Amino acid sequence: MNQPKRIDGRRIADEQVAQIAQRVAALTEQGKRPPGLAVVMVGDNPASDVYVRNKIRRCEQAGILSREHRLDERTTEEDLLGLLDSLNQDPQIDGILVQLPLPAHLEEGRILKRISPAKDVDGFHPVNVGLLGIGDARALVPCTPAGCVILAKEVLGDLTGKHVVVVGRSNIVGKPAAQLFLAEDCSVTLVHSKSANGAELARQADILVVAVGRPQMVDESWVKPGAVVIDVGINRIDTGEGTRLVGDVDYQRVAPVAGAITPVPGGVGPMTIAGLLNNTLTAYEAVE
Ligand code: NDP
Repeated sequence: MNQPKRIDGRRIADEQVAQIAQRVAALTEQGKRPPGLAVVMVGDNPASDVYVRNKIRRCEQAGILSREHRLDERTTEEDLLGLLDSLNQDPQIDGILVQLPLPAHLEEGRILKRISPAKDVDGFHPVNVGLLGIGDARALVPCTPAGCVILAKEVLGDLTGKHVVVVGRSNIVGKPAAQLFLAEDCSVTLVHSKSANGAELARQADILVVAVGRPQMVDESWVKPGAVVIDVGINRIDTGEGTRLVGDVDYQRVAPVAGAITPVPGGVGPMTIAGLLNNTLTAYEAVE
């Protein structure tokens, strides 16, 4: 079997960020204000902390203004909603991101709905979910699934007519991924925990997207030879000598079968942040 193509999400994300930086530089050279992103984090969560720092760093690289709001673990819902209201009104801010997970006393759905749909750069607001569902180009689309589509196109070019199997049906990855591949004229199958024959369905895929949150669950028995495998999973596992990150796909076992495959880390993860910057610029362009 030939060596499969390792899909380098870091390189592709770097290219995307460089393109966004050029577009932002062109705006500021015309004397316009830069796009602005507000990142709201409640409490201390080491993993969230890393994600937030990466997002801020990438904003700086792209010339996007970033503003960090770190709130105490015991922040009330009222205070958080008040902050979102003020960011919704802030003319310097085009995108608002509330870093998840939130502490248990805060009701995620109510909080995400308070973000103005026009500034909802995560694409989680019901208005944007609906716009994506009806194929309206004004939708701000969730960043991780948007990254999956870009990676698949990087390998295959036009995706028309491809059969995509998405394993996982969460609101933030699986379902929007299905919608986005449908918009590329793919045929899409969704597999979930109640599917009777997940591996059998997955073996029909030209493009297999896996977002289940179960370390290395998908092995070679799920993959058609030559398929493009996109692993969304990020799981920290104990190796006995420390910890390491693995995906939802067993890379060692799947790589010899796949035509192309994303590594973890360095595959989908970097694309998520590039998508966030892209959405911030899109939100800016809608108002400027
Ligand atoms: P969720 O836990 O919200 O959803 C998991 C989905 O997997 C559910 O739809 C569930 O089915 C399905 N599932 C669970 N077990 C099986 C099984 N045995 N067979 C088939 N389907 C199954 O996870 P998320 O979508 O939020 O995240 C998935 C993964 O992606 C995680 O590892 C997460 O860390 C990662 N992630 C990575 C991001 C990135 O930037 N790269 C961003 C977001 C997430 P059911 O609905 O029936 O319960």
